[in-house]
Amino acid sequence: MPDFDYDLFVIGAGSGGTRAARVAAAHGAKVAAAEEYRVGGTCVIRGCVPKKLLVYGAHFAEDLQDAKRFGWNVPDCDFDWKTLTRHVFDEVDRISEAYGSTLATHDVEVIREHAELTGANTVRLASGREVTAGTILIATGARPQIPECPGHEFGITSNEAFHLPAIPRRILIAGAGYIANEFAGIFHQFGAHVTLINRTDVILRGYDESVRDRLLQISMMKGIQFRFHAEFRGIEQQDDGSLKVMMTNHDPVEVDCVMFATGRIPNTQNLGLAAAGVELTDKGAIRVDEDSRTNVPSIYAVGDVTDRVQLTPVAIREGQAFADTQFGGKPTRVDYGCIPSAVFSHPQMAGVGLTESQAKTKLGSVKIYTSDFRPMKNVLAGRNERALYKMVCDGETGRIVGIHMIGPDAAEILQAAAIAVKAGLTKDQFDETVALHPTMAEELVLLK
Ligand code: NDP
Repeated sequence: MPDFDYDLFVIGAGSGGTRAARVAAAHGAKVAAAEEYRVGGTCVIRGCVPKKLLVYGAHFAEDLQDAKRFGWNVPDCDFDWKTLTRHVFDEVDRISEAYGSTLATHDVEVIREHAELTGANTVRLASGREVTAGTILIATGARPQIPECPGHEFGITSNEAFHLPAIPRRILIAGAGYIANEFAGIFHQFGAHVTLINRTDVILRGYDESVRDRLLQISMMKGIQFRFHAEFRGIEQQDDGSLKVMMTNHDPVEVDCVMFATGRIPNTQNLGLAAAGVELTDKGAIRVDEDSRTNVPSIYAVGDVTDRVQLTPVAIREGQAFADTQFGGKPTRVDYGCIPSAVFSHPQMAGVGLTESQAKTKLGSVKIYTSDFRPMKNVLAGRNERALYKMVCDGETGRIVGIHMIGPDAAEILQAAAIAVKAGLTKDQFDETVALHPTMAEELVLLK
């Protein structure tokens, strides 16, 4: 074996890279991880964690309103964005430091510099130092994609949304996926006038049709405006600083802030991939096999930079499987079936497995069970918002192939239900389970 500086060199200390580095080190490997920004990556620094905290903060707008119906004498309340973001950033700092300490306790050397490949086993750091490693793992994540259009530089992305000095009075969000719908809910609850524009009339492609229709209906009822078949044509800054947004098929809209939420692209630039001979896919992601190995045998990649499933828990699984396989003598592959996902919109949406239409295409015969109900808290609060739970079963065997839901705490409820779908349980087995009353989750064992 040639003598390398490290057994494993990880580029990028986000969710996937940190897990891989820590586990490989626990298996006895000598590991270094280069991170040019902050340990924790997108999820911790500018994604899932701060977003979820904003979602919690935003939800108080409705909770405070509803509290009055529950007898609370709620005075007029002010919301202070600066206070919320200060606390959110403190929490982000805490978690980022915890990630750093976990790496330190596992003897992973964290190098706070940009790193790029110079060969199959060599990496050059920004300081000019060259290091060698038996195995290199790229876990550099993805960044927001901004559509090319005149004036796009006036727009922000979710990265900057956390750092806005104040809640904009009027915001236009481009895109209708996860980030667009989550931030539409957040900004709306904080009092902004929100317009969401999308190039088609489909929001949250990939989620079950009835569930996403319900989100659209509730969002519109709350006052979020949607413009469909609207493609960006440009943004002009007006004399008063406001932004005029031009789009196809609709009149221009004047707003104070434009946010792009039009997907994320893998971070493959300035990594020396060409120098090392690493191949990319047509979409510019690093091409990997089932073991996360690139076409260069000593170089691997996990997480969003590979554009498989852009979700934190998937990147973590890929990092774990890589480390167990390469350094732990435990060959492991990630099972991409039945990955639950959620949209932290107002209300939340969550789903696992096949949607109704996917199941019909794949299985032919399907049975659908639904519960369309008004959660009791909403009834007393006088909130006209209905939840919808849908179970998709194989028409032949009764096996549950998908569960989709929208309603309060849908993500919390779906996580447990996803275990049953993954385990291949049937509708009958759900029905055999006694309901836990009164809950929303009991609807899952009472579906008709
Ligand atoms: P999504 O892929 O969810 O949505 C992108 C949206 O932008 C779609 O509506 C898409 O339309 C539209 N779009 C894409 N390209 C263009 C373009 N060139 N011009 C105009 N519109 C365009 O991406 P997000 O940015 O919302 O999120 C990125 C990823 O991050 C998600 O895929 C998800 O994996 C992850 N994420 C997960 C979260 C969670 O788990 N709760 C939360 C936030 C992000 P169309 O449908 O026509 O393609």
